[in-house]
Amino acid sequence: MKVILAKKAGFCMGVRRAVETTLDTVQKGGESIATFGPLIHNPQVLNLLKEQGVEILDKIPDKKSGTIIIRAHGVPPSHKEKLIASGADVKDATCPRVMKVQVIIKKFRQQDYTTIIIGDKNHAEVVGLMGYAEPKVHVVSNEEDIQSLQLVGPYIIVSQTTQDDFTFEKLSKAILERFPHGEVFNTICDSTHKRQDEVRNLCRRVDAMVVVGGRGSANTQRLGQVAEEMGCPVFLGETEHDFDLEALSRYKSVGVTAGASTPGWVIDLVVRTLESLPEKNEEQQ
Ligand code: SF4
Repeated sequence: MKVILAKKAGFCMGVRRAVETTLDTVQKGGESIATFGPLIHNPQVLNLLKEQGVEILDKIPDKKSGTIIIRAHGVPPSHKEKLIASGADVKDATCPRVMKVQVIIKKFRQQDYTTIIIGDKNHAEVVGLMGYAEPKVHVVSNEEDIQSLQLVGPYIIVSQTTQDDFTFEKLSKAILERFPHGEVFNTICDSTHKRQDEVRNLCRRVDAMVVVGGRGSANTQRLGQVAEEMGCPVFLGETEHDFDLEALSRYKSVGVTAGASTPGWVIDLVVRTLESLPEKNEEQQ
């Protein structure tokens, strides 16, 4: 089978940096190492870190020795203060692009602006961003959320970094129609823009798209949605074992992309599995 791998498939800069920070800390040894929340949304990488003794904390400890790593999504400032107060050595692996959004929110919050975040209110990055904006903050995920918005005074609109462009444009436009005095900052990160654009382009050249990534990874799911919006059949899975090879073998060519937290070795195994499927000629299709 003809397989075209997207150039931007797999780890983005922020995820790579967080994984390297953690592995570097492991290599240097020392006492307990923990991440605050799962480091990334990829079970394969999390298993590997577990094997290296990296613990996952799901709440802030009162007292802790060793190292706690803050993941790429970042945390609310109050959480960081409490983590430091626990006595642990805190390494902040918040992605610089997420930090940029935190800085924008902080700057406007100091001038009494309200913040509207277009994103998923349960996503860790959004929870972190809300901490910089509170108490004047609203999260908008869909058009219904806009109907219930009540805004007085100046406000800004920012985006979760992994939001898709189309949704961001549509929702920010609808908010501005109701409340015309807002300032818009499209804070979708470059890596997300490029990854989604590449999927759109690939969809024009292949018969189906394979998207590799964790089931809990929002950016992986969005890549699937982007391909679907292009009318491309989409196959989503975490590893090479998750794909319906019989269904895939009906296609002559497939594109492969992967979420920002999917490691290269997992992508390679999927590509090799697909490449081993027999080539289809025009008549067979
Ligand atoms: S998707 Fe963008 S903002 Fe999020 S961790 Fe990766 S590089 Fe950073």
